[in-house]
Amino acid sequence: MTLSERDSKHIWHPLTQHQLADAPLAIVKAQGALLWDEYGKEYIDGISSWYTAMYGHCNEAIVQAVHRQMQQLDQVVFTGFTHEPAVRLSERLIGILPDNQQKIFFNDNGSTAVEVALKMALQYHANREEKRAVILAFEEGFHGDTFGAMSVSGLSVYNGPFEDHFLEVVRIPVPQKGSDQALQRVKQAIETFPCAAFVYEPLVQGAAGMKFHDAAGLSAILEVCKAHGVLCIADEVMTGFGKTGSYFASDYLTTKPDMVCLSKALTAGMVPMGITSCTQAVFDAFLDSEVEKGFFHAHTYSANPLGCAAALAGIDLLLSGTMQANIRRISESHVNFSETIKGHSKVTSVRCLGVILAIDLALETDRYGEVRNRLFRFFMERGIFLRPLGNTVYVLPPFVITNAQLQRIYGTIKEAIEKF
Ligand SMILES: *Cc1c(COP(=O)(O)O)cnc(C)c1O
Repeated sequence: MTLSERDSKHIWHPLTQHQLADAPLAIVKAQGALLWDEYGKEYIDGISSWYTAMYGHCNEAIVQAVHRQMQQLDQVVFTGFTHEPAVRLSERLIGILPDNQQKIFFNDNGSTAVEVALKMALQYHANREEKRAVILAFEEGFHGDTFGAMSVSGLSVYNGPFEDHFLEVVRIPVPQKGSDQALQRVKQAIETFPCAAFVYEPLVQGAAGMKFHDAAGLSAILEVCKAHGVLCIADEVMTGFGKTGSYFASDYLTTKPDMVCLSKALTAGMVPMGITSCTQAVFDAFLDSEVEKGFFHAHTYSANPLGCAAALAGIDLLLSGTMQANIRRISESHVNFSETIKGHSKVTSVRCLGVILAIDLALETDRYGEVRNRLFRFFMERGIFLRPLGNTVYVLPPFVITNAQLQRIYGTIKEAIEKF
């Protein structure tokens, strides 16, 4: 029996309608920008396995760092204990995060990073004896699949059975250049409802189809939120760690967030981990002689030393001249490629930022529609792992991808544009 066949006996896959889905593909090996399946076929990982393995799969420096760590200290409770990898990681992150960030809270994935930010925001106001429970969030945002994160996500059409149990959310459009409609909606919401926080994916809405919005417009919204005590939560789970060309997408904004959510590339695709950072002011609102005013939230694997070691090695790589040059190289290459397809009749939009390239095709298809599935198979047959979101084909490759590998991706996309 193949792995795919054995899989179907006991495994329930995420985001999958098992009655309709193809059997999953078994991957047995990964290196750099490449994946190999159980039949030995090679694929270029054009989306860095959901934007995690940015420094390449099985990166030697990260493997070594995790290996060293697991021989020294594998795991310890993080309530009442600490350890060097966590302390060092907090110092490194504070060094590169927006400069108002002061405290690091450890979680174990992107959804819980957002969940914690929402709970912190709600308790922040409660601790200050203010009754604020409404959360502002963008239309088509994606923030994860736990209850709070799911509530603030505007995207999912699959949340029907849970909607009665959601947080109170007011949805606002993303800011467009030259329009203050989004800003007006935020002002209106803040006047009408007791708003606790505003959660947003800065500049790029990943799951929505790599949709971009205006930096100046977002800064103006953040400014208004701050002026009214609404905590700004930047969900950088997708955008973090160099993908937009800067360490964080928040670096492009003139107003800094009160909290930042991190995961995905944080640990370079090696170990699950999430982080919620916040300002000193947020932290201070939990200091009190009453125990209950503290933040009573924990995950068993909070600050797992192996995750910290992977993250530290990842940050070293991110800051290296080689990796920064790679980011510029990919970014320029994306721009050059997008010029060649811009006017094509089947291309309705092409956009790039950093190593992110997104192309909207003139195709009618649902998010998991038949045409989208054919498009996915078209790429996989040609050894290219891309995961179209509806009619949006996007590329978000590991920084170490070679020029030849990039050209193969572009060539296959061009072929798809002609074929579909
Ligand atoms: C992936 C993602 C999440 C959820 O992270 P998980 O680790 O999958 O729970 C949250 N926010 C954004 C912006 C994401 O891209």
